[in-house]
Amino acid sequence: MADIILTINAGSSSVKFSAQRIAEGKLTPLALGQIDGIGSEATFTATKSGGEKAHFALDQSRHAIDHALALTAVLDWLEGENLDGRVVGVGHRIVHGGPVFAEPVRLDAAVLRQLRAFVPLAPLHQPFNLAGVEAAIQAFPDAAQVACFDTAFHRKHPFIADTFALPRKYYDEGVRRYGFHGLSYEFITRILRHEEPVLARGKVIVAHLGNGASLCAIKSGKSVASTMGFTALDGVPMGTRCGQLDPGVVLYLMGEKKMSADEITDLLYKNSGLKGMSGISNDMRELEASTEPSARDAIDYFVSRVRREIGGLSAVLGGLDCIVLTGGIGENAQKIRHAILKDMEWFGVEIDEEANARNQRVISAKGSPTVALILKTDEERMIAAHTAELLGLKQPLEARAPTEKSGSRPA
Ligand code: AMP
Repeated sequence: MADIILTINAGSSSVKFSAQRIAEGKLTPLALGQIDGIGSEATFTATKSGGEKAHFALDQSRHAIDHALALTAVLDWLEGENLDGRVVGVGHRIVHGGPVFAEPVRLDAAVLRQLRAFVPLAPLHQPFNLAGVEAAIQAFPDAAQVACFDTAFHRKHPFIADTFALPRKYYDEGVRRYGFHGLSYEFITRILRHEEPVLARGKVIVAHLGNGASLCAIKSGKSVASTMGFTALDGVPMGTRCGQLDPGVVLYLMGEKKMSADEITDLLYKNSGLKGMSGISNDMRELEASTEPSARDAIDYFVSRVRREIGGLSAVLGGLDCIVLTGGIGENAQKIRHAILKDMEWFGVEIDEEANARNQRVISAKGSPTVALILKTDEERMIAAHTAELLGLKQPLEARAPTEKSGSRPA
């Protein structure tokens, strides 16, 4: 019977999962799926590797589907699809490891207690991540449960990259720039180390541009600064989140508009960013297809903020050897990539228009001082790799067949 690692990314109303076989230190994806509408009308969607898509409504004749029932549905489906190997480990995406966790950790009662203490730092994510853990302990009582943190990759930042200009006591009690999307950055860093070892030792910016978006400055494989801060609101604008905002705006909304904390939270997390600016959609494809000026404004603002952050992070790094674009927008949106990287020759980035239009791996021109790459991120695989490594089932730095090289430059 095969050993299986399950990854779980539990949100407020959805649970994303993947199942990966682990044999002789190698992970092989078996299935990827998602349960949406938890707490209301739950649907199950999953695809077996190389197989057909399954999509059905979950039976809620007796109860609204909660996280525990959602995971039971995952278990039933895996068995029904003859993927019923032994689940030896469950890797959880946990948004916040606070100032404590700089590495993945095996979950036990003491760790869970610590993670509950971080709920106030990520009230919209952490409680649901932990609900996923509780549910997985019930559904897979014999499997090891492993927490993989979105914040961990950024935990070794220098003090000045993590602090705000507030009295020190706030930093000491945890009001810091934590940075997020760490699992994506770590995955890209591993790929670079394997495929572009010379670049990986240099000064790199990774732009994770998806529905959530941030950029990370990485020096010799270590995160030194991130555009995201205390929460996942800061930095560049996102699908529905505002990105950088003068805190005076929040004071104005409270003082003059008499908005409550909940109303402001809703505005900044769910009704700002591309969706709020355009009044049309949080989806970049829809905005690109729209002829409305507000859609163009939202795209232009997004592009200009990403360019600003590239400049700022390059200054932190003291130069730039490589920029990697990833996430749904970074991997697919040619026009947005073009807009972000054009007219940057003075700065050392020369884009190869044809390569960009063809979504090639290397999109900088030959001889461009800074190499620009498109790399596909895979947070599920990173979680599975961490889980397998922590269980001693695999060596760190998983091998992936080296592909086209970019003519790496730094010494
Ligand atoms: P993610 O959260 O990484 O799945 O990314 C989702 C974002 O990527 C959405 O804004 C999508 O509109 C955007 N996206 C995906 N494919 C494309 C594409 N071909 N062109 C433009 N945007 C895309």
